[in-house]
Amino acid sequence: MDLGYANRLVVVTGGSSGIGLETARLLLAEGARVAICGRDQARLDRAREALASDRLLALRCDVLDAGQVAAFAQSVAAWGAKAGPPALDLLVNNAGQGRVSTFRDTSDQDWKEELDLKFFSQILPIRAFKPLLDASDAAAIVGVNSLLAYQPEKHMVCTSAARAGVQSLLKSLAAEFAPRIRVNSILLGLVDSGQWQRRFEARADTSETREAWFARLAREKGIPLGRLGQPAEAARAILFLGSPAASYVTGASLEISGGVSRHI
Ligand code: NDP
Repeated sequence: MDLGYANRLVVVTGGSSGIGLETARLLLAEGARVAICGRDQARLDRAREALASDRLLALRCDVLDAGQVAAFAQSVAAWGAKAGPPALDLLVNNAGQGRVSTFRDTSDQDWKEELDLKFFSQILPIRAFKPLLDASDAAAIVGVNSLLAYQPEKHMVCTSAARAGVQSLLKSLAAEFAPRIRVNSILLGLVDSGQWQRRFEARADTSETREAWFARLAREKGIPLGRLGQPAEAARAILFLGSPAASYVTGASLEISGGVSRHI
């Protein structure tokens, strides 16, 4: 199946690691021009080296800073204009991370930071890139979200609540932006990427190997497919939902969880 990405312009926020990096890699392989952003320059440099493409733009941008997001959008527009009138075909809102805390140990400030991260990592890029998306004949937004939106966990209380709100936001936008821009999301279970690598590195028993630690995690979480997902497995779902191949799909979400969801 041709996903139709050749010469399309795509933005992936948080494209310097994990799922975002794999999404950028697959999009480049499909012939797209890809702009990624992240906060850490060294991580961006490593991503630029790993992706090694003249169809890649990698810029520093904190998606929670409206000024930086507006500047990123301007740079993408100028870069896109080199190949004709600039139009953005896909915005992948992927930047972010989860917060592990129960209600008891989540302060008001923690709540504010988490709600800010989850909502404004969608709102600010969508606002800044909307004019460019409007100029595309096949525009799409994919929000990277979590199964926690429908299946909250008490040890991730504020992330779960914020994820549910983001699903609501994306559903509303799918209606408001139709028929010009499709808006969909992926709902992740556990994917072996930067944040799980950091938790592995901080493990209590440092004699436990990476393989054993991840195998135990999958067992404890009761993942039917018996393992965590790989970033490329999440990326492939993003590519499908964001592509003209999914032209009749909007307001939808696709679970990438190895079967760990309990709801119907
Ligand atoms: P990684 O830590 O590997 O990648 C996160 C990326 O986001 C990095 O490029 C990071 O770069 C960037 N980022 C984080 N905050 C910002 C910010 N404020 N502005 C710009 N860039 C930012 O994690 P994953 O690949 O796992 O995460 C991708 C998304 O998937 C995240 O939103 C995460 O919450 C979500 N998710 C992941 C799950 C998993 O199991 N892996 C489960 C559920 C959801 P830098 O730090 O340099 O800014």
